[in-house]
Amino acid sequence: MIQVIDGKILAEHLRKELKNHAETFRKKNKRPIGLAVIMVGENPASQVYIKNKITACQQVGIKSVPHILAEGTSEKYVAKLIEKFNSAKDIDGILVQLPLPKKINERNILNLIDPSKDVDGFHASNAGALLLGLDCLPACTPAGCIALIKSTGVDLVGKHAVIVGRSNIVGKPVALLLLQESCTVTITHSKTKDLANLTRQADILVVAIGQKHVITGGMIKPGAIVIDVGINRVDNKIYGDVNFEQASRIAGFITPVPGGVGPMTITMLLANTVKAAMRRTGTKL
Ligand code: NDP
Repeated sequence: MIQVIDGKILAEHLRKELKNHAETFRKKNKRPIGLAVIMVGENPASQVYIKNKITACQQVGIKSVPHILAEGTSEKYVAKLIEKFNSAKDIDGILVQLPLPKKINERNILNLIDPSKDVDGFHASNAGALLLGLDCLPACTPAGCIALIKSTGVDLVGKHAVIVGRSNIVGKPVALLLLQESCTVTITHSKTKDLANLTRQADILVVAIGQKHVITGGMIKPGAIVIDVGINRVDNKIYGDVNFEQASRIAGFITPVPGGVGPMTITMLLANTVKAAMRRTGTKL
C-alpha cells in the first residue's frame, strides 16, 4: 500500500520545535535570532520564495532583515552588504536568493558569506565539510530530502540510493548525505546511459532534474522510496519530475509536488539559522 510522504505535516512539526528553540535563544541572548535576506532583481519565482521564507521566519520567531535590491545593483555593492552582515552581531544567518543577475558572479558572492552564517550551505567550506563528513550547515533541499526519507522509518543502511541529477545544490549534496547514512549511492545525470536500468534498482530514488514527468512508473522498483525534488511550471500548474500517478501505483513511499520537498527546504533553512545562531553565541538548549 503506497504512502504519500506529507512534507507539509513534517515541516509543521519541525517548525514547532524550532519555534521553541528560537524562544530559548531570545530569552538567553535578549534578542531574536537574525537572518539577513538579500535579493537582487525581480525574478517572479524568487519573489515568491523570498516571501515564503520571510513568512516562515515570522512563524518561528526569527527576525528577518530583507534587502531587496534593484536589477542593476553592482557586485561590489552586494559584496559590501555581505561584509556588513558578516560583522553584524545581531545577524546569525545570511541568505542570498539565487539566481543573481548574470553580471554578478554567484560563486564569488556566495564565498564572501562568513561560513558560520552561511545558512543555505552553499559556501565552498560548508560544501567541503559535508564531503568530509564534518559538522556543517548542509544545503537545505538535500537536508529536507533526508528528513523526508527518514520519516518513512525505513532502515537506510545498505539500501541502494539512486540520485538523478548532479547539481551542486541538490544532486551532489543529497548523494553525500545518503552516503553518510550508509546507503550505496549511484549518481546519474543527462549523459547517463540506460537511466531506467539504474532507477529500477533503486530502493531510494531522489529525482532533481527540472523536467516534467521524466521518471515514469516503469522506471521505479516496487516498494521504493521516491523523493521528487522537481518544480516545473507548465500552463500555470506545478508538476514534479516524476509522473506521480504512475509512480504511486508502484512505489512504497512518494513525495507529492507541490507539498513534498518544497516545505521541507524552507524548514531546513530555519533549522540552519537556529543552528548557526546557537553555535555562534554558544547558546545551549
Ligand atoms: P540543475 O539544472 O542545476 O540540474 C539538473 C540535473 O539534472 C543536471 O545534473 C542534469 O544533468 C540532470 N538531467 C537533466 N536532464 C536529465 C535527464 N533527462 N536524465 C537524467 N538527468 C538529467 O537543477 P537543480 O538541481 O537546481 O534543480 C532540479 C529541479 O529541482 C528543478 O526543477 C528545480 O526547480 C527543483 N528544485 C526544487 C527545490 C525545492 O525546494 N523543492 C529546491 C531546488 C531545486 P547534467 O549535469 O548532465 O546537465
